[in-house]
Order: sequence, then structure tokens, then C-alpha cells
Amino acid sequence: LDQRARTRLETLLDHFGLGHIGAPATNWIDGEAVIGQGEPITLRNPVTGQVLVSYPDAGAALVSRAVSAGARAQMEWMALTASARGRHMNAAIRALAGEEEQLAQLESVVAGKPISDCRGEVGKVREMFEYYAGWCDKQHGEVIPVPTSHLNYVRHVPYGVVGQITPWNAPMFTCAWQLAPAIAAGNAAVLKPSELTPFTSVVIAKLLEGGGLPKGLINIVNGVGPTTGAALTDHDGISKLVFVGSPESGRLIARAGARRLVPSVLELGGKSANIIFNDARLDDAIAGAQAAIFAAAGQSCVAGSRLLIQRDIFEEVVERLGRAAARIAVGLPEEDATRMGPLQNSRQFERVTNMIDTAVKAGARLVTGGHRPHGLPEGASGYFLAPVVLADVTPDMAIACEEVFGPVVVAMPFDDEAEAVQLANATRFGLAGAVWTQDVARAHRVAGKLRAGTVWINSYKAINVMSPFGGFGDSGFGRSSGLEGLKEYTLPQSIWVETGEQASVAMGYGNGV
Ligand code: NAD
Repeated sequence: LDQRARTRLETLLDHFGLGHIGAPATNWIDGEAVIGQGEPITLRNPVTGQVLVSYPDAGAALVSRAVSAGARAQMEWMALTASARGRHMNAAIRALAGEEEQLAQLESVVAGKPISDCRGEVGKVREMFEYYAGWCDKQHGEVIPVPTSHLNYVRHVPYGVVGQITPWNAPMFTCAWQLAPAIAAGNAAVLKPSELTPFTSVVIAKLLEGGGLPKGLINIVNGVGPTTGAALTDHDGISKLVFVGSPESGRLIARAGARRLVPSVLELGGKSANIIFNDARLDDAIAGAQAAIFAAAGQSCVAGSRLLIQRDIFEEVVERLGRAAARIAVGLPEEDATRMGPLQNSRQFERVTNMIDTAVKAGARLVTGGHRPHGLPEGASGYFLAPVVLADVTPDMAIACEEVFGPVVVAMPFDDEAEAVQLANATRFGLAGAVWTQDVARAHRVAGKLRAGTVWINSYKAINVMSPFGGFGDSGFGRSSGLEGLKEYTLPQSIWVETGEQASVAMGYGNGV
């Protein structure tokens, strides 16, 4: 299995012109694939736990080169008309055509994600660039009807070069999610993907540039947080930070921004509540609960990790979900039929299994899972975990409060609507949530009371680039996607023009200001 993974990776690196597996280029700077200059970073194959590839951390000097390239390219980009920028973005995305399968393969082999998921993720990349390309010539300012003899209008001005940092769980999705609005708004970008999934963002940048985006407009640097990440957040040439990752790292990013008075958008973790009332269509609700937590092996920020079930249907739902979870096809990421692959890395695997053990010791009931999945091929001794349903969990247990980021759902009963809302909101997070009921009034009432950035009614995980996404509380601040996501990448500038017969300037506040 290891030899197969290395050969696949080698072929894909060669296909995309990123060098040899012994010395891969993991940075894309000013139109060139560049090998890092720092300490080696070793990646393990999630399927086997054995070394897959090593590459050098980018380091501060390459970050500086990327920021300088961005500053130059941003001026060129803004010298184009807005419609030309839109045409360039649309042309660039067409350069992905014919490369989608290889991109999906590259993500799958490094991240350990099922190939079917990775193909879906490539589709999202295209969708996001197409959507934001359309905004290029539709962002316009406003005229404010001020009560003086002035014409006052507002322009929306790009920041310049923005710094973006993304996680390993959806590398292509989060890369396109932030790059597309950044450049549509007129910025250049320097993006640092997770050091655990370095390649696909580099390929996306390279392909887009091949499709006609100016060289240097999108730069990718790869390395760990304390070196390359910190060099990016602390760089004087970066005027906005956008971060997707854990609350712990998010705090470091916001602090780095605060030191330089640079604003940040933080898209952080979650502990989302999925509420099933006793009048819900149970087949749908159980299928929804299963997809909510076990897709991507639970390594999803919006995972429905807390399942709140009305008491009179509690045992039935838990038992049916347990059976459904046990039937999920856990297997090799490269196989079409696989619905759940391994966890991505050893740190994650240890964290998840420790949290399950602690919960069980504290009295939680293991309904299903937690063991090595059956039927895996010989040698697949990596980070696989059979999907877990835990019942008899109390709200004070760590597993009910902390983000697990793995295939683990905790089920808790509630008696009435008020208790469901109280339990759902009893968390420092506020990313997402869902309500399953056939009572329309109750559905909207409960949705409106949830402290979460996204709420689904009789659905889960529906997201689209057109609709704003982001968190309340420890799930972060600022918004991505939609017009709100675009606006995060511009600053309003207010311009005043005297239109009276003579200038109405006066000392003090005489201009009616
Ligand atoms: P992480 O916080 O460990 O790392 C995220 C990124 O931050 C990586 O690129 C990492 O190298 C970088 N980083 C870490 N320390 C840094 C520092 N001091 N300076 C600069 N960069 C630094 O998160 P992860 O484990 O990669 O991802 C999982 C987390 O991401 C989960 O909490 C998940 O919920 C969250 N997530 C949120 C969203 C969302 O949209 N809200 C989407 C996906 C993932």
C-alpha cells in the first residue's frame, strides 16, 4: 500500500510539474514552483501511518518574496477594468478542465479522503471561481444623500495583499473559498495551506495562472504555523488576515493581527447541535444525522456532533443510527465505494480515541464503533476508526463540549422545545445547527433561537457559495461566501465633492458634519 501511494504521488507531482517526490516544490511564488528553504516536514500516509513524503518548510524569506510579488501583481490587476478581471477569472477556471481527476487523486492520496469526496471538492473550486468572477463588474459603490451641498459617494477598495491560512480537512475547498473573493475584490493573495496537505493549493494556483491570471496575483507558501505561518501573519505587506482552522490557532492569528492593527476573519471550529423532535420524519432525520457527523470521517467544521433527541424517540433513534453507522463503507480512500476513509493524521487519531476512552470511563455508553473497522486490506494499519455513536452522555462531559473533529456523535435526550434550545446553545461554539420536525412554526421558532451562523431545517450540510457562512462565539467572526464574503476583502472609502456654487468650508463643524 505504501509503495502504491508513493508511486501515485510521484506520478501526480510529475504530472503537475512539481518536481520529484524526493524534493517536491511546495510553493508557488510569482509564477514559479519553488522548493522550500526551511526544516523538513514529514507527511505520513493516513492509510498506513508510514512516511509518504518530506519537503522543506517555506520559511520567512520565501514568504517575503511572495508578498512582494503580490504587491506588484495587485497593481497590474487593478489597472485592468473590472470586466476584464471577470473575464480573466472565468478563463482561468477553464484551465482546470481536464485536470480535475488528477487534482482529486492528489488530494485523496495525501489527505486520505475518499476519492468521491475529493471529486466533489474539485467541483466546488470551479463553482466558487465562477461565482466570484461574476461579481468583478457588479461591485459598485453607493451615493449617500448627505444633507449638505456635497456629492458623497462610497467606493469599495481592495486591501492590497491579503494573507490567508487554511486547514487540512478541505484543502481545495478552503483555498478556492478564500482566493476567489479575494481576487474578485481586487486583491492579491498569499495563502498558506495546512502543512499536512500542501500540494493541491499549489496546483490550483499554477493552473489558474496558466489560464491567464497575472503572475504573482496568487502565491502559495507551505510550512508550519510557528515559522511560515507566523512570517505571513507578521509581514508588514499583509493588510488583512483570513484564517480557517481551530479556535486555538485562530486566537494566535487575531493576536498577530492586533499587534499590527490588521483586521482578521476567523472561520473556526464547531460543536453543532442536530435536534430531532418526535414528529420528525425519522428516516430523513436519521439519514441526516448520519451524513451530518460521518461524512469526511467527522473532520468537518459543521459536523453535527451533538445529537439532541426528544426523549420518547431517543432509544429508537440511537439504535437505528447505530445500525446505520455500522454499515458505512469504511475503506481505502482510492476506492469509489468508500464513504469513510482514515482520519488524516496520528495526532488527530490519538486525540479522537482518547476522547472516546475518557467519555466511556465517565459513563458514556458506546452504542457502536470505536474499533478498527472490519474488512480492511492487510497493511491498512493507519488511522482508521469505525464510526462511533455514544449515548448516556451528559452535557458536562468533555466529549459533549469540545470539538472532537472525528467520526463521533454524542446523543443526549431532551423533554421539550425549551430544553432542546437550552442544550443546543450550551456551548461556546456557534457554527451550525439543525432542527428536524414537521411543525413549521416550531421549526422556524427554534431555528431563530439557535446561536449559530448556519441553521438547517429538515436538512443538514446544505451550503453554497452564494450564501454567507461563518460563526458565532468561539466559531469565529466575519463571513465567507456570498456578497458578505466579498465585502470582507474591501474597505469602504467615502469621497466628498462640493457641488454648491462656492465651497462651504468653515472652521469647526460648520460643514454640517
Ligand atoms: P489548525 O488551527 O491546527 O491549523 C490551521 C492552519 O493554521 C494551518 O495552516 C496551520 O499551519 C496554521 N497555523 C497554526 N498555528 C499558526 C500560527 N501560529 N501562525 C500562523 N498559522 C498557524 O487547524 P487544523 O487542525 O488544520 O484544522 C481543523 C480545524 O479547522 C477544526 O477546528 C475545524 O473545525 C476548523 N475548520 C473550520 C472551518 C470553518 O469554515 N469554520 C472549515 C474547516 C475547518
